[in-house]
Amino acid sequence: IIGCRNNDELTLEKSIYSDPNIEIEARVDDLLSKMTLEEKIGQMVQAERNGIEEGDIKKYKLGSLLSGGGSVPKGNTPKAWVDMYNKFQAEALSTRLTIPLVYGVDAVHGHNNVKGATIFPHNIGLGATFDADLVERVAQITAKEVAATGLDWDFAPCVAVSRDERWGRAYESFGESPELQELLAGAYIRGLQGPNAEMGGKYVIATAKHFIGDGGTDWGTGDAGYIIDRGDLTIDEKSLRAIHLPGYIKAIEENVGTIMASFSSYQGKKMHAHKYLLTDLLKGELGFEGYIISDWEAMNEIAAPTYYDKIVKSVNAGVDMFMEPYRWKELIDVMKKAVDNGDVSIARVDDAVRRILRIKFKAGLFENPLADSEVLNEGSFGSKEHREIAREAVRKSLVLLKNKGNILPLTKDYKVYVSGSNADDIGNQSGGLTIEWQGRSGNITSGTTILDGIKEAIKGHGEVVDDISKADVAIAVIGERPYAEGKGDDGELSLGYQDLLTLQEIKESGKPVVVIMVSGRPLIISDYIDDWDAFVVAWLPGSEGQGVADLIFGDYNFTGKLPVSWPRSIDQLPININDKDYNPLFEYGYGLEMDLED
Ligand code: BGC
Repeated sequence: IIGCRNNDELTLEKSIYSDPNIEIEARVDDLLSKMTLEEKIGQMVQAERNGIEEGDIKKYKLGSLLSGGGSVPKGNTPKAWVDMYNKFQAEALSTRLTIPLVYGVDAVHGHNNVKGATIFPHNIGLGATFDADLVERVAQITAKEVAATGLDWDFAPCVAVSRDERWGRAYESFGESPELQELLAGAYIRGLQGPNAEMGGKYVIATAKHFIGDGGTDWGTGDAGYIIDRGDLTIDEKSLRAIHLPGYIKAIEENVGTIMASFSSYQGKKMHAHKYLLTDLLKGELGFEGYIISDWEAMNEIAAPTYYDKIVKSVNAGVDMFMEPYRWKELIDVMKKAVDNGDVSIARVDDAVRRILRIKFKAGLFENPLADSEVLNEGSFGSKEHREIAREAVRKSLVLLKNKGNILPLTKDYKVYVSGSNADDIGNQSGGLTIEWQGRSGNITSGTTILDGIKEAIKGHGEVVDDISKADVAIAVIGERPYAEGKGDDGELSLGYQDLLTLQEIKESGKPVVVIMVSGRPLIISDYIDDWDAFVVAWLPGSEGQGVADLIFGDYNFTGKLPVSWPRSIDQLPININDKDYNPLFEYGYGLEMDLED
């Protein structure tokens, strides 16, 4: 407070909240006391970067921006992101109270929207590692690459407990058991936010999502009737707490900055309107002190006659910040009216803004609002060092489910025939939420395909041959094509036509076959697996395909275990460990090792 002009009240008071030596709650109090209603409401709004025009941040006092899947600046280089971020941030800093923006993105397996980023296995693969130390390192690198592009906030980790693999987001979950979420949620958050929840510098703010029960909804209760995404979870509260809550308890222990509400419903009531779960349980009983961010336009799904009613319901239920990408001007008007009418109390608004400011202060945004050039200048974005950790994650995530006659490891002197739709495709092996929202086949970013890895491993020894009749062994890389939420819901989980042709060709050749499945979830294989000599599930390994060859040629052994139960038939779904009459094709936790000579 020293050195301020006596008559300039604002400057005098401003220096209280601007002083990093004053403790955060006092800074929040000070800033909150200076804010108008309009400024407060602005903090509660998160708009899409492509949903605003120049001047909007200042004019409407917006508190937050996001890049939804695939919403990238021109050029999509780290530098392009930094320039974009700094421009938006400069506008926020030109507002009366100079409150910085907080900018969020879905970096759910590395900084997956950005070309050249290190792409890690999706969460289902991380689940198969059962390795909290590795997951923490993966998240640290993700944070570093996000921070290098200037952004502050990662909408990760998804701590869904996926109970039904027909759900198109099953791969965003670590697996079907609460203990896996408990083991890995905290590690992931520590990796993103830093060991002391620093949330700044080379760390970012994390989001545990989607609260609560997104992975447990019933088939047939989704928006489109038959689908499961955004569906209804019907189990009783005791089971809800036992299965879906442990990951959030860990997240709060790690001081997670934000929690995202789920699109789904609990017992018929949309989570975004669920006061008991959002406010009483999460903020009250569990003592969560960060803020609740809504999901994308999710307020619109609440059953209420008007947009006004939906917003009133969700803010009163406990949503603190609205991810309202395009309709945010209307949201601002509605919020003002709701406060004027007394439908939303000023105390509720203050509580929401207090939570948001608290995290902005904690993350050091007031001291370092612009992109940290040191993190970018380290030159580690998509670096070899980062990719080595991704390759390690691939190695530790693969699960060996069958190895007849110890065909694996293959000797490097073999002539190898490699086929299948996922053998040579970075887009397919990375899955959804890679460069584009739904992902895409093709070489959409830099990395090494599974075929590249195999070629590299046997270079100077055997060969990759084009003619199956000349091969000692065939490797078929089959599985799913990229998809994300909505599109991925699938009531059959069967192998595609192309893959059946690949398998048929190999079967007719009579050659031994190693099947590698690139997939976000188990597919139904009971009719085919007897024909296979070895079967490996690779999940969605990401950009470092060499990790697969590291195992099949025996440079490393398999350590991965199934994070989900593998069903025999589609009728068994949902199938989960501890179910009555549990009889899957492969049990949760199953996974073989190879016989390696020392
Ligand atoms: C997803 C969230 C994601 C958000 C922002 C939503 O559709 O459900 O997981 O964080 O979009 O992209």
